Amino acid sequence: MKLLLENWRKYLNEMEEPITTLRIFDFDETIAHTMSETRVKAPDGTETTVRNQQEFEEYMNAAAAKEGVEAFDAVDALIELGYQIDMSDFSIVKDPAEIIIVTDMLKAFPENSKTYILTARRGTSIGPILDYLDEIGVDSSQVRVMATQGESKGDVMVAMMKNKIMDNGKSNINFIEYYEDSEKNIKDVQMKVCNNKELEQIKPEDFELVIHKVVGFDVGNDREYKIETLGC
Ligand SMILES: [Mg+2]
Repeated sequence: MKLLLENWRKYLNEMEEPITTLRIFDFDETIAHTMSETRVKAPDGTETTVRNQQEFEEYMNAAAAKEGVEAFDAVDALIELGYQIDMSDFSIVKDPAEIIIVTDMLKAFPENSKTYILTARRGTSIGPILDYLDEIGVDSSQVRVMATQGESKGDVMVAMMKNKIMDNGKSNINFIEYYEDSEKNIKDVQMKVCNNKELEQIKPEDFELVIHKVVGFDVGNDREYKIETLGC
């Protein structure tokens, strides 16, 4: 009974605070740069160390093409084909450097918004990411971390929009702010959220998606970042 009352109270609170904005942050190379490497051994015995996101995507795309794999994320299919892919560095937050232009935005929680971190990492990373947020002064109780395990972030956003439909048949979400460094993920979200006929029916008339693309570049020995803002 107590649980029932608590659920009811939560429901009432949600009704009083309508969520209209989703803020969605990627983690790696968006919130923090980490020293995570992926070690791969192909079935032919070739060993490769992949040092960053770009190398990771290049390696996986090449291996998927070679093996005739067509998944959005080829990792699981390649493992089934005998590739040994060691991503254990991504179950922790290894030697992180905070990307402050992004975390400054993360720390400001606007009204009527809900904040998510949507990472392609596996579920084991959720605890370490929450700990890291507390370390850098982000109130982790206000952030929900979700591990997509390489699945499409565009699909997750569409599911979030469909989650609550108002009396007029439209989604309660009229604004999505998305911080991301991966070109592949940005293209996927633009395709699924911007150019999706099925979604048009539930999109509020004033719906807006703003993509903040995080771009890293080297200045001497330092890594610096800038944000490029894209629309739908
Ligand atoms: Mg990233």
